[in-house]
Amino acid sequence: MLEELKFKLRKTIGKILGKAIIDEKLIKESIKEIQKGLILSDVNIKVVLDFSRKVEEKLLKTPPPPGILLRDYVIKVIYDELTKILGGEENKYLPEKGKINKILLIGIEGSGKTTTAAKLAKFYSNMKYKVGVMSIDTYRPAAREQLRQLTNNLDVLFFDLNTNDPFKLLSKGLEYFSEKSVDLIIIDTAGRHKNEKTLMEELKKISKILSPDFTFLVIDASIGQQAYNQAKAFRDTTNIGGIIITKMDGTAKGGGALSAAVATGAKVYFIGIGEKIDDLEIYNPRGFVGQLLGIGDLETLLKRFEALEITAEKRKKLEAIAKGKFTIVDMMEQLQEIKKMGSLSRLLDLIPGLSMKIPKEMVHEIENKIKKWEVAINSMTTEEKVDPSLIKGSRLKRISRGSGVDERTIKELVKQYHMLKKMMKSKQSKRILRMIMNKKLFKGI
Ligand code: GDP
Ligand code: MG
Repeated sequence: MLEELKFKLRKTIGKILGKAIIDEKLIKESIKEIQKGLILSDVNIKVVLDFSRKVEEKLLKTPPPPGILLRDYVIKVIYDELTKILGGEENKYLPEKGKINKILLIGIEGSGKTTTAAKLAKFYSNMKYKVGVMSIDTYRPAAREQLRQLTNNLDVLFFDLNTNDPFKLLSKGLEYFSEKSVDLIIIDTAGRHKNEKTLMEELKKISKILSPDFTFLVIDASIGQQAYNQAKAFRDTTNIGGIIITKMDGTAKGGGALSAAVATGAKVYFIGIGEKIDDLEIYNPRGFVGQLLGIGDLETLLKRFEALEITAEKRKKLEAIAKGKFTIVDMMEQLQEIKKMGSLSRLLDLIPGLSMKIPKEMVHEIENKIKKWEVAINSMTTEEKVDPSLIKGSRLKRISRGSGVDERTIKELVKQYHMLKKMMKSKQSKRILRMIMNKKLFKGI
């Protein structure tokens, strides 16, 4: 699959891995080489240029995060941007259990609908759906026979009727499958279409009678970037649907077909990778790009980046903390996070200025007390968690009794909270938090 692109990508990655020094020249050469590969697989020139610009910008303007080798960073950026143009996240269609789901396949003649209908029948039957298949292709007499033969050895039901009226065929088929209480009906269509317009007209007509749960547009990969128009028309007409790109095995243009479909905002669910019944794969852009790059331990490389990622939620919390807005629970969460990253005292040593502010013995105490504090917090009311200054007198006694943590330790927790809150107001700590958010802090941990 996509041998040319794969070849260029692997050659580029090999070069990057083999060079001791990665400089601007090597980066630019690598991008050129990948460009060639993308163009050879018929990816739209605009998409290629956009890809190159993004990769170059990231690599030449932003340094790798601390602790990450430039070489790994280069590979990660290429991987990320390729994944983006080839579809981003994986899409899955799982028919609902307990109702009759209808999948409709449309596409121009020869795109691979009938073959794909049989492949899908097997795919969903393997997932324990009770599947029925039928073809409403009344133009070609052999078409229905083709589907019968393809599904003959499968554990699926097949329906046919001697008629030339596709709508009669359809309604009888639905009746039949309903009696047999199937979970899923896969309907193959004729596809006597020359362009997007006639394709969409037929879809509208059939949809009216059938109201399918899911429609797949089947596209032959060898049409390359021409897939754009079909995918676009499809996306504009149907609101539930996905794309299946067939014959990925037989063409160099698969990258073009995939990226063109993605560029319209449509989603690719499956790819066909051969003529046989099992030659259907769930399309997973990440895995797909991983395979193209052919890096054995890509997983490990990606994990290293994952650990550095600051999620939106984390960022929000950190920002709130920087403003001094945090509850005692937030404080504990942050302490836990810091603990995960290494010992607290080591961490404080790394932050210039901060280790002086917090006495060493207190650092050790914090480490020892985190557990006790957690227990104590569990015995606090929400009100107390938000406003720990309430914790005194009878409230303090109650928490201590409830948690089994002595009053002195709880008092310390409250004191610690107030101290931190005060500290957060200083310029110094604002700077540290900014550093955390910009991932610039934990060098070498
Ligand atoms: P339809 O006219 O859309 O129903 O297309 P068919 O299902 O009849 O397929 C047309 C031809 O493409 C047949 O010879 C299939 O065997 C072939 N075909 C379908 N899918 C694939 C695929 O993923 N890979 C390859 N190599 N051939 C395929
Ligand atoms: Mg057919």
